[in-house]
Amino acid sequence: MDLQGKHALVTGGGTGIGLAIATALAGCGAQVTITGRRLEVLQAVAGPGLHPAVMDVTEESQVRDVIGAAVAARGPVQICVANAGIAEGRKLHKTSSEFWRRIMATNLDGCFYTVRESLTSMLQTDWGRVIAVSSIAGLRGAAGAGAYAASKHGVIGMMRSFAEDFLGQPYTFNSICPGYVDTPIVSRNTEAIRDRTGVSAEEAQAMMVGLNRHKRLITPEEVAAAALWLCDPLSGSTNGTEVRIAGGQV
Ligand code: NDP
Repeated sequence: MDLQGKHALVTGGGTGIGLAIATALAGCGAQVTITGRRLEVLQAVAGPGLHPAVMDVTEESQVRDVIGAAVAARGPVQICVANAGIAEGRKLHKTSSEFWRRIMATNLDGCFYTVRESLTSMLQTDWGRVIAVSSIAGLRGAAGAGAYAASKHGVIGMMRSFAEDFLGQPYTFNSICPGYVDTPIVSRNTEAIRDRTGVSAEEAQAMMVGLNRHKRLITPEEVAAAALWLCDPLSGSTNGTEVRIAGGQV
C-alpha cells in the first residue's frame, strides 16, 4: 500500500499496539505523528516517518494545540488512530467516582477529542480513515472491569455514530477490538495478578494467555495488520463497524 504524502496521527504511538500501527503506516510511506505523555518513550522510537509529540489526550486544549501544530508541520491528518488508553479493572463496589472518571477521561473523552480535532483538517481533504482501538471488552461484559468495558463500548458507539454522520463521504470510522495483546498493558496486568493472588509470574502469564480462546497472546503486529487493511483504498465500504482480533472470542 502506498501512503506517501499522507499524514497519520497515532495516539499512544510510542508503545505496544500504537507503535506497531505507527511503524506499519510509516513503512507504507506515511508521515506519522506519534503522541503520548512521556517524551523520552516517544523519542526512543522516533525515526524516519515517526514524529514524536507530547500530548495528554485528557487535556482538551492540549489535544487541539498539538494536533494543530502537527497539521501545520505535516499537513491535514488523513489517518487518525485513537489508540491511547488505560486498562485497569475494579469490581463495582470498589469503583470510586475518581477511578471511573480517570478511565473515561482517557479512553472515552480522549478518543473524542482526538477524532474531533483530527477531523477539522481531514474534512478539507477528499480521503480519510478514523480508527479507534477499542477492545473485545467493547463488545461484551468484562468481569471486574465495568468502567473499562463501558469506556470501550462507548468508543464503538462513537465510531458507529460518526460513520452515520458522514455517510456517503470519503471518510470511514471503524473500531478494532483485540483480545489480550502482548504489550506493556498485559505485562502490568500480569504483575498485578501475581501480586494480588501470590501465584508465580509464569502462572499469572498463563492465566492471561488462557483468556484468549486460541490460547496465545496476540501480537501487536497482528493488530497493526488490521489497521493497515482499514487504510486500503478497497476498504472504503467498511464503515461504522468493528474488526475483532481475539482468536475466536464472541
Ligand atoms: P500500552 O500501555 O503500551 O499503550 C497505551 C498507550 O497510551 C501508551 O503509549 C501511553 O503512553 C498512552 N496513554 C495512556 N494514557 C494517555 C493519556 N492520558 N494521554 C496520552 N497518551 C496516553 O498498551 P497497549 O498498546 O496494549 O494499549 C493500546 C490500546 O489498546 C489501549 O487503548 C488499550 O485499551 C487497547 N487494548 C489493549 C489490549 C491488550 O491486551 N494489550 C486489548 C484490547 C485493547 P504514555 O503513558 O506515555 O502517555
